[in-house]
Formats: sequence, C-alpha cells, structure tokens
Amino acid sequence: MEEISFYCTPEQAHDQEYLKSVIAKQRKKNDAFKFKWHKRSIDARKKNIKVRCSFHVYKSSESIPENYKPTFKKLNPNKTIHIIGLGPAGLFAALTALEEGYKPIVYERGKAVKDRIKDIGKLNRKGIVNENSNYCFGEGGAGTYSDGKLYTRSKKRGAVQQVLETFVHFGANEDILVEAHPHIGTNKLPRIVAAISDKIVEMGGEINFDHKLTGINTNADKITSIELNHELTVSVDKILLATGHSARDVFELLHENKIKIQAKPFALGVRVEHSQEFIDKAQYHGRKSDAFIPPASYRLVTQARDKGVYSFCMCPGGIIAPCATKNEEVVTNGWSPSKRNNPYANSGIVVSVSPEDLKNPENPFCGVEFQQYIEHKAWLSAGKNQKVPAQKLEDFMNDTLSIDFPRSSYQPGIESVKMDEIFPDFIIDRLRAAFIDFNKKIPGFITNDAVLHAPESRTSSPILIPRDKHSFHHVEITNLYPCAEGAGYAGGIVSAAIDGINCVQAIERLK
Ligand SMILES: Cc1cc2nc3c(=O)[nH]c(=O)nc-3n(C[C@H](O)[C@H](O)[C@H](O)COP(=O)(O)OP(=O)(O)OC[C@H]3O[C@@H](n4cnc5c(N)ncnc54)[C@H](O)[C@@H]3O)c2cc1C
Repeated sequence: MEEISFYCTPEQAHDQEYLKSVIAKQRKKNDAFKFKWHKRSIDARKKNIKVRCSFHVYKSSESIPENYKPTFKKLNPNKTIHIIGLGPAGLFAALTALEEGYKPIVYERGKAVKDRIKDIGKLNRKGIVNENSNYCFGEGGAGTYSDGKLYTRSKKRGAVQQVLETFVHFGANEDILVEAHPHIGTNKLPRIVAAISDKIVEMGGEINFDHKLTGINTNADKITSIELNHELTVSVDKILLATGHSARDVFELLHENKIKIQAKPFALGVRVEHSQEFIDKAQYHGRKSDAFIPPASYRLVTQARDKGVYSFCMCPGGIIAPCATKNEEVVTNGWSPSKRNNPYANSGIVVSVSPEDLKNPENPFCGVEFQQYIEHKAWLSAGKNQKVPAQKLEDFMNDTLSIDFPRSSYQPGIESVKMDEIFPDFIIDRLRAAFIDFNKKIPGFITNDAVLHAPESRTSSPILIPRDKHSFHHVEITNLYPCAEGAGYAGGIVSAAIDGINCVQAIERLK
C-alpha cells in the first residue's frame, strides 16, 4: 500500500475519473491498482479554495484492510460489570465488556430512543422537561440528539479509529473515516445508537431502561450493592459510573456516601446564532456552500483578562436545543442533521471558570451551584418556561435591550433580556472582549443579525471524581470506575467512548 496526497479543486475532489488519473500519474507505474480515500480536508485559507486529498493505493493483488468490528468472547457468568448510564461511554464500555467475556449489566435512568423522542418533542413544543428523558438523559446519552461531531483532541489515533470504525459497523456513513471534521447528524444517530444496544443485548448483555441509580451501599473500600429507583437492591462486583455531566443527583449521592469528589474548572457562556450564509461567505471568501463545499464552521479562541474564551460545539446548519434536565432551569446546546441544511449557524461562546472564581472554592459543589444559579436565573427572567433569554449581539456590545429579533432556531422561543441580568461581570466583560477579537478574525461577526441565547452552561463537568491513573478505579473505592465526561475524563462523544473502552480494559488488565 502506498499513500498518495495532492490538492485539487472541490469539484475535482468529487470526480472519480479525475482522482484516478492523478493517482495513476503520481504512481509512475503502469500496473492495475485500486484506491480508497484516506483523509479529506477543505483548505479555505485562500480565495482559491482547495481540497487536500489523501488516498491509500493498493496493487490489484493486495487486499484492502477491513474496518474494525467488535468480536465477542463467550461470556463467563462469574464476570459481570455493572454500568450506570448508557451514553457513548456506557455503550462502548458494554461492547468492550462483551469483547472481554464479561456480562455488562446496564442501568439507564432514561428511555430507549423510540420512546425518548416523544419526550424531546414535548420539550421542544410545550416546554415540558421530563427529568429522566430529555436531550441529556436516555439511550445513547447526550450524544444521541447531538450534531454527532466526532472530532477529538485525543492523540490516541488507534483508539479514535476504533470508535469511528465501530460507528460505521453499526450504520454510520464511511465518510466519517475520511473527513477531517467528521459528523453523523441527529437524524442518523438514534438508529446507530439503537443498533449498538441491540447488539449488546443479542450478545448476552443486559440493558435496563427507566432504572435510575438512587443509592449506594459501601463496606470499607468497596461498593457492595446499589439501589435503583429507590426500590431494587443489586449486589455488584465492579461498577462503572458513566452518568455524564448533568447527573447532579449522582454527585450528591457520592458525596452523601463520603465518596471523594472535587470541584474542577469548566466553562460557561452563551450560544450565538448567525445565518449560515454569513458564516459561509466569511469563511469561503464570499462563496456560499454548495454540492462541493460543506456548510462552513469556525473555531475561535482568545484570552480575555487571563481567561480562555472559546467557541464550543459549533453546529453549521444547526438548531439550538433546550437541554435542561429539570424544570425551573434553562440550558442551551446545539445539534444539526447530517446534511447541515438549516439556514442557521450556532455555537457556544464560553468563558473558562475555575473554582477560585466562585464563592467557597473548597466546596466540591461550587461549580454545580454556579451553573444552577445561572440556569435558574435565566428561567426566571425569560418567563418561567423553556423560553431562553436572548439579546442581539451588537445590542449586547452596546449594552442595549433588544427590541426585535431575526428568526431564531430555538423552538420553545426567546425572550428579550439583557445578558448582564443573567451573568456576573467576570463573564460579561470577558464575553465582550472576546467578541471584539472574534470580530477581527471574522469581520462582521458582531452584528444585530446574530442573536445570543443564554445560557450555554453544560460544556463539561464542574466536578472531578478522582481515580487512580493506572488502575482507573476511584482513589478510595477500589471497585468503582468513574468514567468519561461526568467524572471529568472526557469531553465529547469520541473521548467518552474511548474512556468507556479504557475503563473496561483496565478492569481486565488488572483482574
Ligand atoms: C445537544 C447536544 C449536542 C452535542 N453535540 C456534540 C457533538 O456534536 N460532538 C460531541 O463530541 N459531543 C457533543 N455533545 C456532548 C456529548 O454528547 C457528550 O460529551 C457525551 O455524550 C458524553 O458521554 P458520556 O457517556 O460521558 O455521558 P452522557 O452522554 O451524558 O451519558 C450519561 C448517561 O447516564 C444516564 N444517567 C445519568 N444519571 C443516571 C442515574 N442516576 N442512573 C442511571 N443512569 C443515569 C443518563 O441518562 C445518560 O444517558 C453534545 C451534547 C448535547 C446535549
């Protein structure tokens, strides 16, 4: 196999005959060959937009390596892992358990996707939050109704590839293995997530929906049993806790049981929405996205008075979603369908927050309490339903209440509220400083055609559940494996999935 890379126009990158001819020329051999896309990325730094194409090229006699697919061992009935939470971490932990011959027994507070979608509908249309079934809780976790962006800063390329190829095995498009910024899309994720769950059950795993972890019983350095829905008690051997960053009741449960947790830095701010056409033209030198170049995205980072302010989870062609997990709070995040074909471009713009910025930094719940305070204040000020406080961006910069708005993608509706009624000065001042910098990077970014929606508060967990670096178990409770985003060891779908795999492999390695 040889790797061949070159630049071409976006149109040429879609022309198989053209690609084949360039590859043939670069090979300088006359024998027959076959080729497979390896990586594809858009280079829009100059007006003349290029695509960097990279291929794996094989002699016709060579076979193309197959993608990773899970292979399962015979289950050993004495080996069980109890997994709490069926987000990306729980799904991949359960698959890995089956690959290692363990029986995964999963408890998930939410519903299967086919029922969860009804609660998501009620949330969008009527502003009713089901506290166990929403954008964060249910089969597939917070990843199911997300954009499904699959890029990660993880340097573990092998592990990233395994996760991507597993998604392909369960129904994702092969393009995710090639694109520099792969994404699946909200319309496709639920089916893929359900296919993974079905395989887990088919191979002997157990998935219990509508089962919320409500109690923990410990003896010395072990959890001996857990309670579910306040009524069912189950003995456990190994317990993998993958409940995500929004399960505040789980943090409380650990704390009540004197299981160590600690405050950690996180980030919080607003979700800004521009028109996708504006972002396309800004990023593509006046060109709109089309059949050959995808809707454009951006990634912005700056320092404002010693704190990082950055764009988070940017969704081209996306929709802003109501992501509260309780009544009396509002929270935003964003998703997009696989084609990213909505006329909006939204992104979190968030300020780094550390425990030292808050009251009582030694209290492990200082970050959670700050999030709750902001989310509740936003709920109060926008009408005590799932409407969110909104302000046009230029009005925000000029400290003016917005009178009218361009259309917003946020379905439950928006209410004109000044952002400084919601956030303290240390957030507001840094957001303003950051927007000035972002306006230099994307001229026209500050405009009254863009709307801030508040708050974007669930970017990462404000709590760390400390674990041993080598064994991955909790620093004090030796059969508890704090896993992925809620425990502070992942941020995003791919890194959560990798952490799920790693925790189970650590259990197997150290058995
Ligand atoms: C709208 C939206 C869009 C997003 N877009 C992207 C994106 O494009 N790309 C990306 O990488 N990331 C995205 N994210 C973030 C991503 O979804 C998370 O980083 C990821 O899902 C974390 O995985 P996890 O398994 O650690 O936890 P989660 O996905 O949060 O899963 C935790 C699970 O635990 C369950 N649970 C909680 N408490 C209990 C309990 N007491 N008992 C039993 N079960 C419990 C929950 O119901 C949930 O299903 C998005 C998130 C949202 C909300």
